[in-house]
Order: sequence, then C-alpha cells, then structure tokens
Amino acid sequence: MITPQPSTAILTGCTQSHLIALEDGALIHNQMQRAWRNLCQAAATNGIDIKIVSAFRSFERQAAIWQAKCDGLRPIYDLQQQQVRITSLTGLAKLQAILLYSALPGASRHHWGTELDIYDAGAVAQDYQPSLLPDEYQAQGPFAKLNQWLSTEAVKFGFFRPYRQYRGGVAAEPWHLSYAPIATPYLQAFNVATLTSCLQQYPIAEQHSVLANLPQLYQTYVINICEET
Ligand SMILES: [Zn+2]
Repeated sequence: MITPQPSTAILTGCTQSHLIALEDGALIHNQMQRAWRNLCQAAATNGIDIKIVSAFRSFERQAAIWQAKCDGLRPIYDLQQQQVRITSLTGLAKLQAILLYSALPGASRHHWGTELDIYDAGAVAQDYQPSLLPDEYQAQGPFAKLNQWLSTEAVKFGFFRPYRQYRGGVAAEPWHLSYAPIATPYLQAFNVATLTSCLQQYPIAEQHSVLANLPQLYQTYVINICEET
C-alpha cells in the first residue's frame, strides 16, 4: 500500500525515513524497489544495462547545488547547450536560468525518492562519466537505445518521464525517470504553502527573489510536467 499523505518532510527532502539503499548506494523510495528491479531486468533482456547517476537528493544537497549555481561555481547551460554567465544575471532572469536544469531546494522531485537519473552502462566504456546532456540520448548518442526503449516500456512498470519534452519550464531531461504510483500523489499533496514554509525555515541563495516569485515558479517549474504516458 502506498501512503496517501506524505509528510512535509518527505515532500521537501528533509527526511530519509522513506528510503532504502540499493547495492550501488543509491537511495530510493522503499515502495518502488520491486518495480525498479523489474524495469532493470526487462531492460537487461534487451541488452540495456541501466545504471543510476542520481536518485534521492536531500534538501541540504539541493541547496548546496543551488548555492553553487547562483555563485557561478557550477556550469549553467541554456537550451542550446551554451554556457550561461550566471553572475551577470539578476532577479527572476537569474532564477529562470538556473531552474532550466536545477530544481529549487524543497521542490525537487528527487527529494521524494521516486526519481532517478539513468544511463545505459552497457553502451559506453566502464570509466565513462555521463554528462546528462540531451546529445547523449539523441539519435547519434550512446543512450539513444535506452531513450527509445523507455518511451515504450517504462510505463509498463509504472514509470514515466515528467521532463521528456520541454514545456517552457524545465528543459527536456530524457534521463529523468519517475515512479508514478508514488510521485503522482506526492505532487498532488505538494503546494506553494508547503514550499514557502520550508524555505522560510531553511533560507537559500536568492531567497528574497525566490519567495517574491514563488507562485509563478511553482506553476512553471514544479507542476508543469509531461503526462504519465
Ligand atoms: Zn533528475
């Protein structure tokens, strides 16, 4: 049974009580383990070796990423894969540039344990470091086969890709997989008020600008996702 009402702490990445560790150390929601293993097994029979780049991410970790991006210490790309000079931007424009590929702390779906960034380890050399850029998943890229396979098979195991197409908010992220039976009720339970109180309790970089624009950011980057099939 899926818990119908997740706690605020789960929704905002402030607890790990709902997680279990996989063999590779990745933390995932304890109620999606079987579905995840089934998906990986099915992929393996098709010659795809699914590996996780990123699973659960805490508020603290997301806040550190957010801070580094605001400070220009981590690269930020636009939709054309050109690097953005973030320190020359201010206000809403700065937030929008970062939010294209990075969620607000407290509003990352990775907080839920239901989200996975994945690649096909069988398609690249053992020491290959996935960049998680669109080119890797497109026709000539090493993970095109994985991308294609997911588009027809993921749904059979309860998974979908909320960012498979750009919808004016988060950029297309073909590597990002979500477990719908848990993630969908979690998104329904989440709201601007929950996010606001989380950020008031744990202030982040660009706090003033974030809070001033929060309803719009929530609309554009949190609930603006692709449908489940
Ligand atoms: Zn992701």
